[in-house]
Parts: sequence; structure tokens; C-alpha cells
Amino acid sequence: MTKRLYYDKPDLLEFDSVVESVTIPENGADRKSPSIILRESAFYPTSGGQVHDTGWIAVGNERLRVAEVVEAEDGRVVHYLEGPPKPSTAEPQTFAVAGATVHGTIDEERRRDHMQQHSGQHVLSAVFIALYNMPTVSFHMGEDYCSIDLATESLTEAQVRGAEKRANEIIFENRPVTIRYVRRDEAEKLGLRKLPPAEREELRLIEVADFDLSACGGTHVSATGQIGSILLRKTEKTRQGMRVEFVCGTRAVRAARRDYATLTEAASLFSSQLGDVPQLIRKTFDESKTLRKQREDALDELAAAMAEATLKASSMESRPVIVRVFPDRDSAFAKLFAQKLTRSGAPVIALVASALSPPGLIFAQSPGQTADMGALLRETLLSVGGRGGGSKDFAQGGVPAGLNLEQLLQVAVSKIKVE
Ligand SMILES: [Zn+2]
Repeated sequence: MTKRLYYDKPDLLEFDSVVESVTIPENGADRKSPSIILRESAFYPTSGGQVHDTGWIAVGNERLRVAEVVEAEDGRVVHYLEGPPKPSTAEPQTFAVAGATVHGTIDEERRRDHMQQHSGQHVLSAVFIALYNMPTVSFHMGEDYCSIDLATESLTEAQVRGAEKRANEIIFENRPVTIRYVRRDEAEKLGLRKLPPAEREELRLIEVADFDLSACGGTHVSATGQIGSILLRKTEKTRQGMRVEFVCGTRAVRAARRDYATLTEAASLFSSQLGDVPQLIRKTFDESKTLRKQREDALDELAAAMAEATLKASSMESRPVIVRVFPDRDSAFAKLFAQKLTRSGAPVIALVASALSPPGLIFAQSPGQTADMGALLRETLLSVGGRGGGSKDFAQGGVPAGLNLEQLLQVAVSKIKVE
């Protein structure tokens, strides 16, 4: 097992160690990057919901980037180096050998961020138990947000605010966070918030003074004030219960900064104050709904008027066949126009097209007519490679762009069979 320096010194960011082994991946291996195992390490490997550290391992004059750190099943910490080895360094001897002394450096910003998030999670999980008796069943640390899953059916907005307020109080009180080790049988008597599965004899306990005691192997701040602050965000239902997203410290500032930028942009689009944005969005929704309705009504009236004028102009014919191509109106309007014509009471056949993309055809006839619009449309579409269909009295379809629609309709007119 690798000696974990962070267990007792979570603030340790530089350390000396000795190489135990180096692994260079063989061709076809799952992982392409070489890895190093050290006698002791301050690098935190991904475990218990907390993600791994990154940093550097210096060997002689060479500084190797540590891109990922994992925990092997035998308890050793494996440091994966960045990228596959260059041909010149493909031999392990050229950068590290067992027994070589190395100097490790942890990426400080990333570690501090993880300590803030992880310690914030301890406080938050304890708050949810203290206030609402909701135990945490899992913890996830992502790149931007963290989340805990609570064993509860529901979570109200008031409970979320209450938990956030209480967690921030614990943070502002700057309570000491201490590490100690106890035997398992002792730990069982201490009433821990979280007891790990029985595999270790000795447990590492993290205590937030007079507030929370739990067994954990992660890295934590030394006083709650270092968490900075905690901001609860989205909540959602999951299979396990309720998920609560949160951010602590620098992440909370980053999240607030991002939200502020978004809201500022929205407000400038409305030329308004930030607080007026929701009201203005509501107003805009209502207005566009009204406008949509007005537009529909106007188009309906226009189609009716155009149909009436067209019928009047062809009133001398006993059974007018009306052919019309709309160069700048869509298929929905063409359909409306055809419906107005064929529902007027007079016996009419209407062959209508819209040239607007995507171009479409509407073939319709008044009820009781003897032609077959569906058959006529299918025949027309077949000749140009279009798609569509319909019944005896009404059919519609789409045709490829760039056709001479006027001509297409005239050919269709010549094929109308009336008994
Ligand atoms: Zn922890």
C-alpha cells in the first residue's frame, strides 16, 4: 500500500518520495499513458466521490505531468502521466526507474477547490440530517457542480433554503475540522453520520466541531471558514430520492458570475433592469401569442376574400376548375384557400400550389364531386418524385424545389376525369 501523505497533512502540496515501479503500456493496452507508483504520495486518487489531484512529478531535470491518479485494488496509488510516451522516452530508464528519488507537486488550485467542495458536502449532508432527517446516499463531484442524493421522497423550496442558510452559518462560524483515528468497535459507539463498509480495522474520522462526525478518506479544510460559502442550485428527483446540486467557495463565485453575465445579457436585450427580466419575458410571450392569433385570423379572412373573388370571376362556368400558384405564400395558406373554395357550396375543383420552400400541392374538390383528388395527386407526384396523398376530396403533397408549378398544375387539369 502506498503511504498516503494527505491523510495527516491535507495541506501538503510538495513532497519527496522514491519510485517503486514504472509501467509503460504495451501496444494495444487500454491506457496509453505510462504510470508511476511511489513509496508515499500526497496525490489524492479518485475515491469516495472526490476526484483525483493533478500535478507534477520531477525526476532529475525532467518534470512529468500527472494527469490522473487512481487507487489500485491492492491499495496502491497509481499516478498516470500525461499522454503516451514519446519515442525518445519510451524506455522507462530515461525518465524514472525503481529506486529513483522524485519530487511531487500537487496542483494547488485544483486541490483547494476539491477541499472546499468535499468539506462543504460534509456540512451540507449533516445539515440535511439535523434539520429534516434526510440522509445522504451518494456524493458526486463534477467539473462545474457537485451533487448529493438524499434519501427522501420530496424536498420543498423552503427546505432547500433552510439547509443553505444553516450550512452557511456553520461555515461562517469557522468551526475547526479535525482528523483522528479510532478502532472500528470504538467508532460504532460514536454515532457516526457515515460508517464505511467493514473492511478496515482503523477508521479515519473527520469531525466538524460539535456538529458532524463521519468516517472519510478525503481531503478537507482545517476550519469551515475555508469552505467560503455554499450555494444550493438545482434539485431533481432521481431513482434514489432527491438530488441537490451545490457549489462551494470559488465555484460558488464562478457560478454566480456566470449567472449574472447571462442575466445581464438578457436584461440588455430588453433594455431593462435585471429584476424586470422575468416579467418582460412573460409579457413578450403573451404578446407573441396575441400576435399569432391575430395573424391566423387575418390570413383566414384573406383566404376567404381571395376565394370569394376567384369564385365570382369564374361564376359563368358550371363546374369551375381553379388553378392557382402562390409564389410567396406557404402551403398552409394554399390549403386554407383551397378549403375556402371547396366549402363555399358551389361545385368546384381547386388545384393549388405554394412555391415557397418547401413547395407543396393541394388538390381539393367540393363534396359530392366525382373526380378523385387522391389519385390525381399521386399520379402528379409520381411524375416529379414528390411525396404525399389523401382522399377522394382532399389531397396534399410536397414536390422538389425548382419545378414549373404552373405547368405541373395544367398537366394535372388535363387529366381530371369527371363522370
Ligand atoms: Zn470527506
